[in-house]
This record gives sequence, C-alpha cells and structure tokens, in this order.
Amino acid sequence: MTSSRRVSYFYDPDVGNFHYGSGHPMKPHRLSLTHDLVINYELFKKMEVYRPYHASVHDMCRFHSEDYIKFLQRVTAKNVHEFAGSLSKFSVGEDCPVFPGIFEFCSIYTGASLEGAVKLNQKACDIAINWAGGLHHAKKFEASGFCYVNDIVIAILELLKYHPRVLYIDIDIHHGDGVQEAFYLTDRVMTLSFHKYGNMFFPGTGDMYEAGADDGKFYSLNVPLKDGIDDQGYIQLFKPTVEAVIDRYRPTCIVLQCGADSLALDRLGCFNLNIKGHGECVRFVSSFNIPMLVLGGGGYTIRNVARCWTYETSILVDETVSEKIPSSAGYLEYFGPDYSLCPEMSGSFPNANTRQYLDNIKQTIMDHLKCMTAAPSIQMQEVPPDLLSLELNTEPNPDTRISQEEEDSRIDAANEFYSGDADNDKDTEYLEVL
Ligand SMILES: [Zn+2]
Repeated sequence: MTSSRRVSYFYDPDVGNFHYGSGHPMKPHRLSLTHDLVINYELFKKMEVYRPYHASVHDMCRFHSEDYIKFLQRVTAKNVHEFAGSLSKFSVGEDCPVFPGIFEFCSIYTGASLEGAVKLNQKACDIAINWAGGLHHAKKFEASGFCYVNDIVIAILELLKYHPRVLYIDIDIHHGDGVQEAFYLTDRVMTLSFHKYGNMFFPGTGDMYEAGADDGKFYSLNVPLKDGIDDQGYIQLFKPTVEAVIDRYRPTCIVLQCGADSLALDRLGCFNLNIKGHGECVRFVSSFNIPMLVLGGGGYTIRNVARCWTYETSILVDETVSEKIPSSAGYLEYFGPDYSLCPEMSGSFPNANTRQYLDNIKQTIMDHLKCMTAAPSIQMQEVPPDLLSLELNTEPNPDTRISQEEEDSRIDAANEFYSGDADNDKDTEYLEVL
C-alpha cells in the first residue's frame, strides 16, 4: 500500500452519548472509546478529521419508506404508547427499542457515511472512515438487528452516481442482509458477506445459494461459516475470494463493513478471530488501492471493538502503532490488566470449520464467479447535459472495442436510477429499479 493515500475520518462527539437502554448489548459508547484511542495514538495527524453532516429525512428516504422515517422522527420514549400499531409495523420495540434521540443518532451515523461517499465521489480522499456506520440489517420498511436506518445502502446509492460498479464487503459475524436485499436485482453493486450461518443464528439468511436475481444474478456472494473460525481459516478463505471477486468484477469503489462482533470473546458472537486477523482483512482490501468507504457495524465487547477499529485506523493511515495503549487514553480502565492493543484472544467456541468444509466453500465460490459476467458496464439511458457536452468530443466509434477504463470513464457522472434532483419523487423509487 502506498503511504500517500488520503484518509478522511468522520466523528461526531455526540454519537457516543446515546443509549439503547439498560442491558441492551448495542452500546454507542464504544464509539467514544474508539475515538479516544485514535486521538491518543495521534492517528488524527495522518487524516482529515471531520464532524459529519447530519442526514435529513430526505436523505434517508432515498432508500427507506417515508412513513417509516417519519415515524422514527416523531416517536419518543414519552409518546411511544401512541404508536402501538407502528411499533409492530416497523419492527421497533425489542431488539430495536425506542430510545431518547433515536432519530438524531440515525441522522449522525447516516450523515457521516453519506458525506464519506460524497468525499470519495469528489476525489477529495482515497479512504473515508465512519466507525459509527455500517448498520447493515435495516430494511426499506423496518428496523432490524439494532439497525434503524441503513447508512450503507444510502452511501452506496450516492457512490453509484459516479461509480459504475461498487463492491460491498462485510466481515461482521452477521449476514449483511439489508444491503444484499437492497441490491439483489442489480449488477451495479456486488455484495460479498462472510458470516456465521446455521442453527437459527441471526438474521437467518446468507446461504451460499443466495446469489442474486434478474440483472443481479451472481452479484450476491455469501460465505457461510460455522462457529469458532480462527484467523488462519478465515484469512485463507477471505484473501483468495476477495482477490478473485476484485479481479472479475473490477469495482471502481469498495465499501467495507468491519463489524467487530466476528472477534473472539464478543458478547454476541461465536467466532474466534483476533484483532490482527480482522485487521489483516482490512489491510488486504486496502492493498488494492481502490477508493474505499470503511464502516463499523456490530461489536458487543466494547473494549475489543475500540481496540480493533483503532488498529484498523492505523492500518488505513499506514502508521505502525505501539502495542501498549497510551497511558494518556481517557478510558484506560477498559484496557487493563494488559493494556495492549491487540491481545491474544481465545474464545470458548471450538472451530467447527473443517479444512474440507472451507475447501468446499472456496470451490463453490470460484464456480459461482465463473458464471458472472466480468466487469459489467451500465447502459446509459440519459446523460445529463454537462456530461453530454464533454462526451461530444470523445464519442467512440461503435465498431471499435474500447478499453474497460475508457468505458468506465464514459459513465462518469450519471446512472439509470439517480434522478439528480433533490426534489424529484423518483428518488424514492430506487427499490423498484434495483
Ligand atoms: Zn453483527
């Protein structure tokens, strides 16, 4: 990786102060812990640090239904009894409780992912980081798995204005179902999720045979894993898979969801990854030098979430950091007694992924990739005037084969589902098109 990659980092100092409720495993406080370590390791010196834009109702409705988002905006802990019907309709209440500031929380983490996408589109950075984002379970009409607004889908829709092909990679222990579902019918986004599958593990989807449909057939790729997978087994599968997907799909942008609940000792997880192994996945994806939006996700043993995302920030800014957590860190008590950044962690789940099981998955993935069209290009229906005027000088001869780079550059600023007008109702029709 070249050290000259420009990294933008988004953090809102309020984001760690929201509470899902006592006893709830999702703790936004982990974001304060992470940011504090990032600052105390002085990683801010190698990034542009931004307090992010807050997403509006309109931004959220680029993916979600208006009645669902308006409900999130209106509901409070005090008036929740007035919304009895809506709670079940929108799956809000138990896993996804109503808590004080729920809409503001969604607005902060979604705005940061969206702004990261805009910065990447503007080529203002090469890597954008939002550890508060990555809430991959949220659906168009409902909340799911501690996720209310799907910041990932909204950010990818923004990236699609400029990028012909976006690759989404998800290393959270849970299947990236919300993102897969949103882009199941299109080849503009390829989703690749590594996750625990089986025994009713949440959310229950992500079988190897869920591959996409219609134009999206073969552009959803799932890697179902069993309990206790370790660094070696995971990386042996991750690297050749990612390499083959990038080689075949040729994404112009990558969105990487770095859910830390795939680490050993996670409160809800059952994998056995170490922080170094998890980080190696991030390092490997970044080594392709493709513009990248890096997001958080799950992660419920919060001292390890903070360690992991700090370590991964250091990888992304290409800085070697001390194994000893700085004594200046604000939440030092979380990291004792070892005070190390990447402690050896061993979970209690035996590794149920045999060599043969992993080899079989790898073979299935390689067969799957052979079925998909390499680097699909998009059919331009409408070209905005500014782009059209640029293209008049470079109109290709239809009889001449053009290179992939030329073909990609020709669709620079538009795609078939972006309406380009903030007030245009077409914005809410994404799902029908996708
Ligand atoms: Zn998760």
